[in-house]
Amino acid sequence: MASQIPGIHHVTAICGDPQRNLDFYQGVLGLRLVKRTVNFDDPGSYHLYYGDAVGSPGTIMTFFAWPGARAGRRGTGQLTVTSFAVPERSLGFWGERLEAYGVAFEGPLRRWQEEYLALEDPDGLRLELVAWQVGGGDRAWAGGPVPPEHAIGGFFGVTLCEQDEEPTGRFLARTLGFVPGAGDGDRFRYRAREDEKGSVVDVLRRVEGRRGEVAVGTVHHVAWRARDDDEQRRWRSELVDLGLDVTPVIDRRYFRSIYFREPGGVLFEIATEPPGFTVDEPEPELGGRLQLPPWLEPLRGRIEPRLPPIEVRRVEPGRAGGGSREER
Ligand code: ZN
Repeated sequence: MASQIPGIHHVTAICGDPQRNLDFYQGVLGLRLVKRTVNFDDPGSYHLYYGDAVGSPGTIMTFFAWPGARAGRRGTGQLTVTSFAVPERSLGFWGERLEAYGVAFEGPLRRWQEEYLALEDPDGLRLELVAWQVGGGDRAWAGGPVPPEHAIGGFFGVTLCEQDEEPTGRFLARTLGFVPGAGDGDRFRYRAREDEKGSVVDVLRRVEGRRGEVAVGTVHHVAWRARDDDEQRRWRSELVDLGLDVTPVIDRRYFRSIYFREPGGVLFEIATEPPGFTVDEPEPELGGRLQLPPWLEPLRGRIEPRLPPIEVRRVEPGRAGGGSREER
């Protein structure tokens, strides 16, 4: 085995209205909008990145915005729950905060060692806030609406929903280097060897489950961290040797990426930690204006006017809740 995945780099999902998304993730959850750019593969739509103060790998939640598009369907072959870590004694704070903002949630619930709150974002994306001893972040955003001592510190982990959990479990353990842990009925836990940000993967067995469909309110892919380009290259050749269909290395400006599907069908990416989000704007200005990569910059005059305007604004309690979303 060439190496072991240390944990999540980012999770990318699809939202509807980008302003509502920004109000929720920055205004309510207190993540910082660290990059406002477009989907490089579809420059007519936003790609919004949220994270800690600098968007450290392991804290980055990103969205492709598809305003007006149909809702997706949660199901097998999908990442169905994204779990953030919060400091161990902060669940009370979060329960009160979600209630004040009119966001419905369940909990505190308990699963094995951890206590958590379960909620959905305004597009119906399933999230959890998990109390964890190392749940606090070292780069919490001091300028945000959530006091740093309660701030989301990054990912706790993700849940993959699979019709047959075995091939996925084998791939996580034998190829990516995750350690199999507890199993409880239909839930099987895997952990990265390094117990740090975003190191937990739960595989949920849903034998009768319908296949998921990617659209608004669902996750598009999860990216795992590679320390540098060399490590990513080693991953790539190992995966190719195993017969997987892996993309070439793609320049995503803030990291470099390769993509492939795990045996159950979830789209996986391996992304490099460098260069990070300060490559095109300094830390105090992160997320402030639309950034385009050098190859799209010449098209700014065509791209920018077509994007719906969004603004970073203070969100008052009672406003940005999930309750108003349509049934589906
Ligand atoms: Zn990605």
